[in-house]
Amino acid sequence: MRPARALIDLQALRNNYQLAREVSGAKALAVVKADAYGHGAVRCAQALASEVDGFSVACIEEALELRAAGISQPILLLEGFFEADELALIEQHALWCVVHSSWQLEAIERTPLQRPLTVWLKLDSGMHRVGLHPAEYRDAHQRLLASGKVAKVVLMSHFARADELDCPRSSEQLALFHEARNGLQAEISLRNSPAILGWPSIPSDWVRPGIMLYGATPFEQAQELAARLQPVMTLESKIISVRELPAGEPVGYGARFVSERPTRVGVVAMGYADGYPRHAPTGTPVMVDGQLTRLIGRVSMDMLTVDLTDLPQAGLGSRVELWGRNVLASDVAQAAGSIPYQLFCNLKRVPRLYS
Ligand code: PLP
Repeated sequence: MRPARALIDLQALRNNYQLAREVSGAKALAVVKADAYGHGAVRCAQALASEVDGFSVACIEEALELRAAGISQPILLLEGFFEADELALIEQHALWCVVHSSWQLEAIERTPLQRPLTVWLKLDSGMHRVGLHPAEYRDAHQRLLASGKVAKVVLMSHFARADELDCPRSSEQLALFHEARNGLQAEISLRNSPAILGWPSIPSDWVRPGIMLYGATPFEQAQELAARLQPVMTLESKIISVRELPAGEPVGYGARFVSERPTRVGVVAMGYADGYPRHAPTGTPVMVDGQLTRLIGRVSMDMLTVDLTDLPQAGLGSRVELWGRNVLASDVAQAAGSIPYQLFCNLKRVPRLYS
């Protein structure tokens, strides 16, 4: 079998979840949308089920996949529903639902329901993507309660720049949240991973950790708490071919790398069709047989090439870590002009092996 594979460490996932709880002192909804950021939503949810306060996903299809797999914990739909007729399924499967727009509010008001809903009412405090306008927030809260369709409302908002620790924007968003809330007493949920790790003073009854569960830092610079995260995914493969090139020879498509000295090139069974970023440049870190080296040349669909010149022990069959505990996904992402979120979500074709 092709040696490319992703090893998923479920204990690391549980440890990261507990870190989110510990540092926030809040209840935590594990964000397992987008197939748990490429880690496998069902397996990750099952691994967390006995200790989790709940899960959150992007859409009802993702929630139903978890319910079908026997996940009975609360599941929040982070974007609510897209069509009013999803409300019947939301009720049937006891899903929690974000309301971010007045059309959703109206849909709840006019749809007959047997059981009251749990709604997370989202304020646009400055992200300007989804969320109610501050001027309509209190009124929306009143309307939900008056509708008789809602048992509980959690007040929520989302930060645009929490990963920038020196940026005042999160404090401004927090101030706007309190202004719009204007004394409303209810549970609140504001913090995603960067806000959990980097903004301890922001109050929370609930937090929504995503990327930190998977052990990747949301920050570009080093951060103390983020250093405690344990990478969950190891993307690995093997050297399937080795060649010795004299100085001056090109490697791969577009001849983007030309050897400056006699160079030993290792070919790895891993390419952009597996989810490795095509834009990772020469110099991106790679580990071969426990030693750091660099990617060279262009990443192709099924293969990439690494520099083995200074690794005389390495050769055919050597184990290659593309990212994991030694080569951080965030470092590979940074080199490729991407973010670890996208690297994980792009994972394709490689089998995931769980332990
Ligand atoms: N909360 C909301 C509303 C989100 O949209 C997301 C992810 O996009 C998260 C929480 C999790 O964010 P992170 O992965 O940065 O923790």
